[in-house]
Amino acid sequence: MSEQLRRTRIIATLGPATDAPGMLKSIIAEGVDVVRLNFSHGDADDHRARAAAARVAAAELGREVAVLGDLQGPKIRVERFAEGAIHLEVGETFTLDCRADAPIGDSTRVGVGYLDLWRDVKPGDLLLLDDGLIAMEVVEVVTELVHCRVVVGGRLSDRKGINRQGGGLTVAALSDKDRHDIELAAELGVDFLAVSFVQTADDIEQARRLLREAGSDAAIVAKIERTEAVAALGEIIEASEVVMVARGDLGVEIGDAELPGLQKKIIRETLERSRVVITATQMMQSMVESPIPTRAEVLDVANAVIDGTDAVMLSEETAAGKHPDKAVAAMRRVCLGAERQFEPPADIGPGARVLDRTDQAIALATMFLAGRIGVRAIIALTESGATARWLSRHRSSVPIYALSRNGRARRRMLLYRDVHPIEFDPHEVGPAQAAREAIQHLFNLGHLAESDRVILTTGDHTGQLGGTNTLKVLRVGADGLAEGLGKL
Ligand code: PGA
Ligand code: MN
Repeated sequence: MSEQLRRTRIIATLGPATDAPGMLKSIIAEGVDVVRLNFSHGDADDHRARAAAARVAAAELGREVAVLGDLQGPKIRVERFAEGAIHLEVGETFTLDCRADAPIGDSTRVGVGYLDLWRDVKPGDLLLLDDGLIAMEVVEVVTELVHCRVVVGGRLSDRKGINRQGGGLTVAALSDKDRHDIELAAELGVDFLAVSFVQTADDIEQARRLLREAGSDAAIVAKIERTEAVAALGEIIEASEVVMVARGDLGVEIGDAELPGLQKKIIRETLERSRVVITATQMMQSMVESPIPTRAEVLDVANAVIDGTDAVMLSEETAAGKHPDKAVAAMRRVCLGAERQFEPPADIGPGARVLDRTDQAIALATMFLAGRIGVRAIIALTESGATARWLSRHRSSVPIYALSRNGRARRRMLLYRDVHPIEFDPHEVGPAQAAREAIQHLFNLGHLAESDRVILTTGDHTGQLGGTNTLKVLRVGADGLAEGLGKL
C-alpha cells in the first residue's frame, strides 16, 4: 500500500536488443505496460517471435502487456550500405540513387525506397536524414540521381529516414507493405495499431477498414508527424482512439523550435476530445549508449508527464540500445518523481468538449466528487473499459482500479493514465454483490485497507457494454467488506 503507484504508462519498442536472453522479462519487470513492434524494421517472423515472447515473459511475471504494431507508412528511407553504415563529412558530395536497380550503398551514394524522390526535390532543398541528425542540401538533380552536399555530417546507417525541411515529401496513404503489415497485426492479435504519416481523418478510416477486414478490433493510434496532420489535428483526433506526438519526424518537418508548443497543444486537444495520448521519440536517446540519462532527458520526460500525457515511449533506447532495462528503469523513476512533485489540481476543470453518454456523465461526477471529498481509490466495474477511459481523461491523483473480466479491455486500458486494470469476474451478477466482491478483491490484493473511502462505478447489469449508470460512495470495513457512508 505504501509503494507509490505509477500513473504514467510506459511503451517500449522491441528489437534486437530486447531479444537478448532474459531482457524482455527485465524490461517488463521494470515497468513496461505496452510493447511496440516497429514494422519499419525486422521481418514478419521477427515480429511473431517478439509478440509471443513478450506475452510469455509477462505471464511468467504474473502481469499483462499490451501489444502495439506500428506501420512503417509511406516514409522515405535510404536503402542498405555494403558496410551497414558510412560516415559523412561536411562538404562532401553524396548521391541519393532513385533507380530501382541502384547498387548497394557506399560512402558516395545509396539507393532510396521511394523511386520518385528525384521528381519531388529541387536544388536548394534541405534533406534531413535520421530524424535530422544528418543534413544535406540538394545541389543538382540528374534523372533519377539526386546529388547533394553534406551540411551536417555523421554516421548514416541502413534504412534511415529522409525528410525535407518544411514537409511535403512523403507519398500519401498506406503503402503495399502497410497493407501486408495490417494483416500481420491482425494475425498477431495486437491491441493497438499505429498509423504513420497520417495526413487526414480519411487515412485513419482507411486503416481501420483494412484492419477490421483482416479480423482485428485493435484501437487505432494516429501518429502526428507531418505538417499536414497539424492542420487537420481536430478531425484526426476525433477519428482515432489514441494520438501519438511523434516528435522524431514532426520535429524534422515542422522545425524543432515548434515542438514544445505543439506537444502541449496535441496533448491538450487530445484530452479535451477524450482520447488517449502518447509522447514519443528521443526521450532517453543518450541511453542507447549510456547507462544513465542526461539531465535534459530527465526534464523532458518529466515535462511530458506534467503536460498530461498518458504514456511515454522508448524507441531505439530499448530496440537497439545497450541498456534497455536501465532505460525503462530510468523512465519509471522519472515518471514517479514528476507525479510526486506535481499533483494535479483537485478541481477537474471544464472537462471534455462533448458530454453525450451516461457512462461519461457518471465518470465526470465521480471525478468531481473525488476532488471534493477525498477518496483512496476509484473502482470501475467495466466490461469494455469505456468508463475507465472517461474517468482517466480528468487529471487527478486518485488511482482508478478498473475491474474487468475481458482481457482485451484490460490490455487496452494499459495505455490510460491513472488506470490499473485488474482481472475480475464476480460470482454474483447483482450490482450490489458485485460491488462487495470487488472491494473484497482489492482488499485481498492489498490495494485497500480498512476505513478507506472509495467511489465505485457500476451498471445495473454486470457485463453490459457501456452500461455504467451508478456511482456509490463506500467505506471499506473490517475484513474488506463494503459499507455505505452516512457522515463523510
Ligand atoms: P517512428 O515514429 O519511430 O516510426 O519514426 C515516431 C516519430 O517519428 O517520432
Ligand atoms: Mn516517425
